Amino acid sequence: MSKYIYSFHEGTKDMKSLLGGKGANLAEMTNIGLPVPPGFTITTKACTKFYAEEKTLWPELKEEIKVHLKEVEESLGKKFSDVENPLLFSVRSGAVFSMPGMMDTILNLGLNDTAVIGLANSTGNERFAYDSYRRFIQMFSDVAMEIPKVRFESLLEDMKENKGVTNDTELSSDDLKELVELFKEVYKEEMNEDFPQDPMRQLELAIEAVFASWNNPRAIIYRKLNDIPHDLGTAVNVQSMVFGNMGDTSGTGVAFTRNPANGENKLFGEFLINAQGEDVVAGIRTPNHIDKLKDIMPEVYNEFIDATKILEEHYKDMQDIEFTIENKKLFFLQTRNGKRTAQAAINVAVDLVEEGLITKEEAILRIEPNQLNQLLHPNFDEKSLKNAEAIAKGLPASPGAASGKVYFNAEDVVKAKNRGERCILVRQETSPEDIEGMISAEGILTARGGMTSHAAVVARGMGKCCVAGCNDIRVDEENKIIKTKTMTLKEGEFISIDGSTGIVYLGEIEKVLPELSGNFGKFMEWVDEFRKLKIRTNADTPKDAAQAVVFGAEGIGLCRTEHMFFDDERIPAVRRMIVSSSLEERKEALDQLLPMQRKDFYEIYKAMGERSVTIRLLDPPLHEFLPTKDEEIKDLSDSMNIDFDELKDRIENIAEVNPMLGHRGCRLAVTYPEIYRMQARAIIEAALDVKNEGFENIKPEIMIPLVGHKKELKYVKDEIVEEISQVFEEREESVEYLIGTMIEVPRACVTADEIAEEAEFFSFGTNDLTQMGFGFSRDDAGKFLSDYEDKNIFTKSPFEAIDRDGVGKLMKIAIELGTKTRPDIHLGICGEHGGDPSSVEFCHVLGLDYVSCSPYRVPIARLAAAQAAIRERTNYNQNDK
Ligand code: ADP
Ligand code: MG
Ligand code: MG
Repeated sequence: MSKYIYSFHEGTKDMKSLLGGKGANLAEMTNIGLPVPPGFTITTKACTKFYAEEKTLWPELKEEIKVHLKEVEESLGKKFSDVENPLLFSVRSGAVFSMPGMMDTILNLGLNDTAVIGLANSTGNERFAYDSYRRFIQMFSDVAMEIPKVRFESLLEDMKENKGVTNDTELSSDDLKELVELFKEVYKEEMNEDFPQDPMRQLELAIEAVFASWNNPRAIIYRKLNDIPHDLGTAVNVQSMVFGNMGDTSGTGVAFTRNPANGENKLFGEFLINAQGEDVVAGIRTPNHIDKLKDIMPEVYNEFIDATKILEEHYKDMQDIEFTIENKKLFFLQTRNGKRTAQAAINVAVDLVEEGLITKEEAILRIEPNQLNQLLHPNFDEKSLKNAEAIAKGLPASPGAASGKVYFNAEDVVKAKNRGERCILVRQETSPEDIEGMISAEGILTARGGMTSHAAVVARGMGKCCVAGCNDIRVDEENKIIKTKTMTLKEGEFISIDGSTGIVYLGEIEKVLPELSGNFGKFMEWVDEFRKLKIRTNADTPKDAAQAVVFGAEGIGLCRTEHMFFDDERIPAVRRMIVSSSLEERKEALDQLLPMQRKDFYEIYKAMGERSVTIRLLDPPLHEFLPTKDEEIKDLSDSMNIDFDELKDRIENIAEVNPMLGHRGCRLAVTYPEIYRMQARAIIEAALDVKNEGFENIKPEIMIPLVGHKKELKYVKDEIVEEISQVFEEREESVEYLIGTMIEVPRACVTADEIAEEAEFFSFGTNDLTQMGFGFSRDDAGKFLSDYEDKNIFTKSPFEAIDRDGVGKLMKIAIELGTKTRPDIHLGICGEHGGDPSSVEFCHVLGLDYVSCSPYRVPIARLAAAQAAIRERTNYNQNDK
């Protein structure tokens, strides 16, 4: 027969998936000798069976329950459903991942009209007995039978008012007796039957209710929001009761062994005298600070302090503890690793290392890399967040928190900003022409597009908060309104967006700027001791580059030159260059751009201080730069002295049906080599300039995008090399440089041995490689990839975490072939995956030299790289987390 129930003394803390978090830790505390009221755990396996087959408690399970009941009865010398000295139980849910507030606990189960008298007699405390009974009826009705709580609460309130008292504790035994009768009447009214008197029946109903609560709507939503699988099921803990409501020498409380907000090593807790269960957190009376326990019951306090130390040393982490005192006797009801802010997480981890409890490696493995986001961006104030109304959820595209008035185009945002307003730019999706609005906005919200959409990439680069692909809203740009399922928001109304969770809130929410404490710096130094991967950044401006260096970037892995072309001052020359009908015309425009590009690169080199800089030559389809509105076309035609219609024709000629697979990347340079020649010249001239200023080791890396064939690379490279030789001749000086290629077209991966004959380095462009590998358009896939996730085809979008089996395999092939030709070929990644912790781990395993990511993800990538190195060494299995 399968075993579906474990006594607390049979389990361990490592049996979480079977016993749930609460059950596993109750078992562990029992085993290390802390006072835990005895009980047993019905496993998650039973819950799964309940759903898959039985839908009700099956006979063998009921038998197993009885066996365990008997065991508890014997150990306590009390009997369940005894009229003289009744044994009572709590029934508590406990899933593998704690799901706060999802499934409620029933206390004092086993009481009925006769047992309550027995309880009164055996304890000599009638008031306590009826207080427990009225609580039980309410909890059982609410949790197991879904009778609205208010029905009971209002009766309690009425009673207090009638008696002229404010606290529950001031009600007399007779008052409570009366309440019990009233509560039973409510039950009968709602359920059309009497309150169940048979304790065994009570227990079975309660257990079934816990199983059922696994699939209540609140629980389902919580699991969705937190990526918790739906098939885990919950365990049920049946535990003998101890009573904090027995009078002035009893009480109940909660404590963190350290401060969960900032990590300070100081007990942080609260308790209430003469109270039970959730009274402390429910706020019915103001709880006392834990220090006060020292005055009231010094022995209990000391025992408690000793136990917290035992627990911390045992779990080697900050604990969140629930306890109850029954007549000066202390009991532990729960412990778990305490939830904490990122700041506290770092401080606790560093302190634990310095206290000798854990190693640096353990400390490093404990911090979830993405959690560092909280330390790098302003965040919403936790308290204000609790009262905020969430109205939609999109993708957490770029972390941070922003509140502002909604505006629907860049122009309106800029105007409003100039009026001194804070704004959120809300768009269906963004495009390069929205840049100014994105810069001026506090944050960006888009209804379409994925994690690598324009809005997401640009916002991350800027370190600006962004929620993208928010399918829950409809954006009507024309009428300037946002529609959700339940409301309509007009231009100028306030919303708040959280780029770390993707949640959109109504109204303004207060923000706090986190401090980068000394421990953060220390922690990151440890991280650097362990990692093997170098971390570079994707930066297009000196400002981004400088920020990235502050965050620890060791070079630039991707400097996109096109972003420099969108600048207001330059775009006219860029446009003239594109629509030119002759080589001469084009060269003239390029000559105008040359000094500007040279200055860009000069400043970026300066900001990077001799660190490696990889500059990618022009990549996007040219039409992206062209004007679309007639007035703009008119301006351009005037400036070029050509006819409006003629220009319009030329622009239409450039448009493509499928620009992502169109005339872009190195293909542009096959047609117009002079564009790359200009860029290569700017790169080399700027390098010579900084070299003359003392950057002896400067060695620019020129990267050619979208290569699929060795011959196209060779053609483009030869043009560039010729131009560079000219520069060296003109200036009578030279500088070392590298020419390499992006690996982002599947054909390049499978012919990487040939490509490597020309390329001195490879940088994996995994955004495009994923797009072309799957044939999923980056800009549209967001619309259907969520269905893939809902239907468990993908656990995560391949644009977020590298698809190891497919796209990853292409990378592997490219590395194997590339190193065959050129054993020392330098390998990196510059797709958005470079900042995703699981993809960073994969890059470590592949043996890349570096990953490159946006500046604000550099610390995250550093940590992820260190974790990958430590895991590899210790064979640490990620699933054990
Ligand atoms: P949650 O997961 O919401 O914290 P718990 O199962 O921990 O729910 O129960 C809530 C509260 O009920 C606990 O904090 C504790 O005070 C009380 N409680 C649970 N079991 C017992 C018990 N056996 N004896 C006394 N109080 C209990
Ligand atoms: Mg609760
Ligand atoms: Mg609890």
